[in-house]
Amino acid sequence: MSKTDGANGQSKPRLAVFKFASCDGCQLSLLDAEDYLLAVAGAVEIAYFVEARRQTLPGPYDVALVEGSISNEEQAEQIQEIRRQSSFLIAIGACATAGGIQALRNWQDVDDYINIVYANPSYIDTLATSTPISDHVAVDFELRGCPINKYQLLDVVTSLLIGRQPRVPTYSVCVECKRRGTTCIMVAQGVPCLGPVTQAGCDAICPAYNRGCYGCYGPMEAPNGAALAQQLESMGSSPDQIVRLFRGFNGYAEPFKATSDEYEEMGR
Ligand code: SF4
Ligand code: SF4
Repeated sequence: MSKTDGANGQSKPRLAVFKFASCDGCQLSLLDAEDYLLAVAGAVEIAYFVEARRQTLPGPYDVALVEGSISNEEQAEQIQEIRRQSSFLIAIGACATAGGIQALRNWQDVDDYINIVYANPSYIDTLATSTPISDHVAVDFELRGCPINKYQLLDVVTSLLIGRQPRVPTYSVCVECKRRGTTCIMVAQGVPCLGPVTQAGCDAICPAYNRGCYGCYGPMEAPNGAALAQQLESMGSSPDQIVRLFRGFNGYAEPFKATSDEYEEMGR
């Protein structure tokens, strides 16, 4: 692995942060962890992070954090080069792990969107789909969330530095609801909620404010989307409402996609 000499003469792992199609929210989560970041920055050489540092150093890198989805040809080529340059590649956020909200176009004709949204569509160069990083290169770890949880990210980075497994939960948002003592709003108020199939990480903030979970952290381990959709149906949701609920920030993640596709077919 390539190392950079630190102030004390010891070599440091080289960290790079890259961005593709995204809102930058996940990179901002990293910057928002500034107190902790300073400690991490002392342990690594931040070789490439254009949102945080003007100087950019060429690869190879020990750890690459990749935000955003692959949405045009140039990005599809760039991610190949980043993979070649990086020993450990972590996809961060819903865009990088599931295509993001922009993957909604994967179900439509992208030219329809371009013609409606842009004053001069001829300037737009895009792929017909928005896809996660893992559709293009091997990914060593995926960190979910829209945006990611900064503490989970720091846990993943520090785990790499000290050589232990990251401790990111794979259980559902319902567990977080119970843990903070929130009354289940799906049971008590009949509010549609993706919590039973969504991975924990947000501390169940939406149900605590009487809003159903939007699925920001993507599918939990072994989610049962069919069972939740049946429950939503029994509570009065139409197939179209179920499709819309599952097609959010992580709609193109396979388990959510499977359920929404099934209900779209049903609604025809
Ligand atoms: S996952 Fe969400 S917060 Fe992160 S870059 Fe994508 S849209 Fe922004
Ligand atoms: S409100 Fe949603 S996340 Fe919370 S326990 Fe009920 S179903 Fe699960």
